[in-house]
Amino acid sequence: MISFSQENDIIVKESKYRKFDVNEIRRDFPILERKVNGKPLVYFDNAATTQKPNVVIDSMTHYYRYENANIHRGLHFLSEVATEQYENSRLKVKEFINAMSASEIILTKGTTDGINLLANTMCRADLLNEGDEIIISHMEHHANIVPWQLLCDRKKTKLVVIPIDDNGELMMDEYKKLISPRTKLVSIVHTSNTLGTVNPIKEIIEIAHKNNIPVIVDGAQAVGHQKIDVQELDCDYFVFSGHKLFGPTGIGVLYGKAELLNKLPPYQGGGDMIRTVTFEKTTYEDIPNKFEAGTPNIVGGIGLGVAIKYLNMFNFQDISRHENELLQYATEKMILIDGLRIIGTAKNKASVISFTIDGIHPYDLGTIIDTDGVALRTGHHCTQPLMKRFNVPATARASFSFYNTIDEIDVFINALNKAIKMFR
Ligand code: PLP
Repeated sequence: MISFSQENDIIVKESKYRKFDVNEIRRDFPILERKVNGKPLVYFDNAATTQKPNVVIDSMTHYYRYENANIHRGLHFLSEVATEQYENSRLKVKEFINAMSASEIILTKGTTDGINLLANTMCRADLLNEGDEIIISHMEHHANIVPWQLLCDRKKTKLVVIPIDDNGELMMDEYKKLISPRTKLVSIVHTSNTLGTVNPIKEIIEIAHKNNIPVIVDGAQAVGHQKIDVQELDCDYFVFSGHKLFGPTGIGVLYGKAELLNKLPPYQGGGDMIRTVTFEKTTYEDIPNKFEAGTPNIVGGIGLGVAIKYLNMFNFQDISRHENELLQYATEKMILIDGLRIIGTAKNKASVISFTIDGIHPYDLGTIIDTDGVALRTGHHCTQPLMKRFNVPATARASFSFYNTIDEIDVFINALNKAIKMFR
C-alpha cells in the first residue's frame, strides 16, 4: 500500500518538469477513458469544473480509509496527521500563488464563498457605506455581482459597472472615468467564464491603487491556466475554487493581504475561530483561523493540496501553449460553420468559446451533441447581464483544459455539423 505521504513524495520527486505529453496526461484522469452514450467522452465543460487526476482521488479515499480525524483539536496520532496534511495544503496554496505568508490563505468553500465572506465582513466593518461605490464589470459571474448587491441593499452603496465592447473586452478608458472619490472597492474577474476574455488585471490594479482603492480579483477561471503571483499582481484579495483546479468541490481559497484581513471582523462564529469564550466576551484567533469557523472540509483541503502538487509538475507555459493551440484550431474550424457566431473575440483569450448557431437553441444543440459523447455547457453561464449585452438568451460553450486534444475538437466539429443538418 502506498501511504499518502509516500504518494506525495513520488509526485514531488518527479517534479520540475514533466514532459508535456497530452496522451500521457490523459492517463492520469480516469474519467477521460469512459464512454458516454456509447461514444468516448469528449469533455469540453472545463470552465464549469475540471476532471480529477488519480492522485487527487486516491489521496481523498486514502484519507478517509486510514487517516480520518478532526483537525486542530486533538492530540492523538490521527488528529495530528490530519492537521499536518490540511495545513500542508495551505502551505502548498501559499507557494502556488506566491503569497507572503500561509496566514494570508483562508480556506473557503469556493470562489462564491470567498466573495461572500468579503462582502459580509466589509459590510460589518463599515468599509462601504451610503454614497460609496463599488466598481465591477459587465462580464462578472453572478458570484461577483449578487453578494455586492446584498451589501448595497443594506448600506445604500452603489454598484458601478465597467462596460465592455463588442469583442468582449473591458473599456479601460471608461474604467478610468468611473473612478472617483466615492469609489471604495474594485472587484473584478480575471478571466471571463463566458467570453474567455483575459482582463489586463495588473493594469486594473495599478489604476485602482493610484487612487488608494483595494482590488478583489475573481481568479476562478485563471488559476488552472496561467501562473498566478499575487505579490507580483499586488492584488489585495484573490479568490478561487479548488474544483476548477483539478481538485475537489467544496473547497476554495481566499487570499488577502494580512494587514487587510486583520482589519476585517470574523465571518462566521463557532469552534476553531476563537481564542477564549465567556458569556460576556469572546476573543478571536488570528488569521487565517479567525475566518474558519467549525470543522472545515478537511478532505477537500487535502485533495486541493495534492491537485496543486500535481499541477506543479507542469510548466504553465506548456499548458498555455497547448490550450492556445486548441483554442486557435477550434476557432478556425468553427468560424467556417454557416450561421455560427462566437460571442467573445478578445485578443487575449483563454480556451473558452461561447457561441450560438442560427436556428438552433443552445439547449437543443447541447442535448443533441451529448448523444455523440460531447459535453458542452449551455445556458447563461451565471452571467445574465452579459447575455443581455450580447442580445442572446443563452449560448453554448466549449471550454478546454490541458488534457483535451485536437482529435476531440474534430469529434466536436463533426457533432456540430451533424446537429445542424438535423435542423436545416
Ligand atoms: N467566478 C467565475 C469567473 C466563475 O467562472 C465561477 C464558476 O463558474 C465562479 C465565480 C463561482 O465559482 P464557484 O461556483 O466554484 O464558487
